[in-house]
Amino acid sequence: MTLEDKHIVHHRDPLEAIKTLLGNPAHAEHVVYGPKKIFSDASQSERIYNEMWTGDWWNTLSLQDRLPSGACVAPVIIATDKTQLTQFTGGKTTYPVYLTLGNLPRAIRRKPLQQACILIAYLSISKMVGKQLTKKQKSTRIQQLFHDSMCIVLEPLIEAGKKGMEVTGGDGKVRIMYPILACYVADYPEQCLVTCTKYGTCPKCQVNDDEMGGREAAGWRTQCRTSKLIRIAREKATSISNFQELCKVDNISGGVRHPFWEDFPHCDIHMGITSDILHQLYQGVNGWSQLSQVSGKERKDMARILLGCIMGKAPFQVIVCYRALLDFIYVAQYPTHDDSTLQYLTNALDEFHANKDILVDLGIRNHFNIPKFHSMLHYEECICNFGTTDNYNTEMFEHFHIDYAKEAWRASNFRNELPQMTQ
Ligand SMILES: [Zn+2]
Repeated sequence: MTLEDKHIVHHRDPLEAIKTLLGNPAHAEHVVYGPKKIFSDASQSERIYNEMWTGDWWNTLSLQDRLPSGACVAPVIIATDKTQLTQFTGGKTTYPVYLTLGNLPRAIRRKPLQQACILIAYLSISKMVGKQLTKKQKSTRIQQLFHDSMCIVLEPLIEAGKKGMEVTGGDGKVRIMYPILACYVADYPEQCLVTCTKYGTCPKCQVNDDEMGGREAAGWRTQCRTSKLIRIAREKATSISNFQELCKVDNISGGVRHPFWEDFPHCDIHMGITSDILHQLYQGVNGWSQLSQVSGKERKDMARILLGCIMGKAPFQVIVCYRALLDFIYVAQYPTHDDSTLQYLTNALDEFHANKDILVDLGIRNHFNIPKFHSMLHYEECICNFGTTDNYNTEMFEHFHIDYAKEAWRASNFRNELPQMTQ
């Protein structure tokens, strides 16, 4: 091992973070320890989805049945997002890992001042993974470095997820809690990294990359299947590049031999990947990818006036197409959904697909086989499983960067800053 192969991960015990979150007396009366099915009326004809405990992941995947009676689930939400510390060239980046729980209401979770989201690690952002390596080999090393680091950071969750742990709540009661990795919040490149998905394909389903523009999703990827395929490739492979080739056949990245989630109990990493409104919809689908350095707020403002700008200037079908996309974006952000409003989401998607070919005919786009368009097919499933999209919004975590990354950076002397930021 050369000096370049040493990387430092600053981290703390996620179980202590979970105990802190549940033990906070200020939140005691708001913490929810079990799933709830909510209906819009007494006849129970229409389900309502909003907080995480109203979703199917906690309610109907018989998760609770697999645990001893009296045990409570702590749905763990992990978010990672590389962030720039300085705006100028040669800028420093940092790679924070955040942890929060589905037991807390989203209104508390998203406010930095409520301390309902805990920074548990800064991962290594070093690109020094061996100077002599080719670009492809470097990419493989960086992928494995991420998984090895997350293995170290999240390892305590494995044992606690299998055997449970005693946690004193903010109300003073002691409960047996099972922390289970439920959601992983990240942008598309990181979704691929986390799930070992080949870049350019879907981290949630097995759709072929030339069929991504279609209306239907393919069969699910599952953690079990991906683990098995990686294991088979590992056993069969005669060399590292052969391992990668074997993985690529199944649209697996081939950069990771041992994913960090391999031994996580009751977890499905592919299901846990959540929709990302900011990057997938505002930045991707609306076709302003050419504009860099545009803030989330500015993109939202542009979406607001888009229809007014193209009215009378673009063909009718183009307007219908963009209106359907905008409907989808806004309906996807409803803070509460029921079966009727989920139908609005489906209708908007149907309308978009029925009219999208005009954009190809006019030469605005060549095709729709890109992950951002495809991702729209998975919103409904995500809302039904984990509650509305404000539970796992990447924007929420971007706010935390101000406190946990940028403020901490400014408090350092800008030299060997990570230990100081951690302090
Ligand atoms: Zn998919």
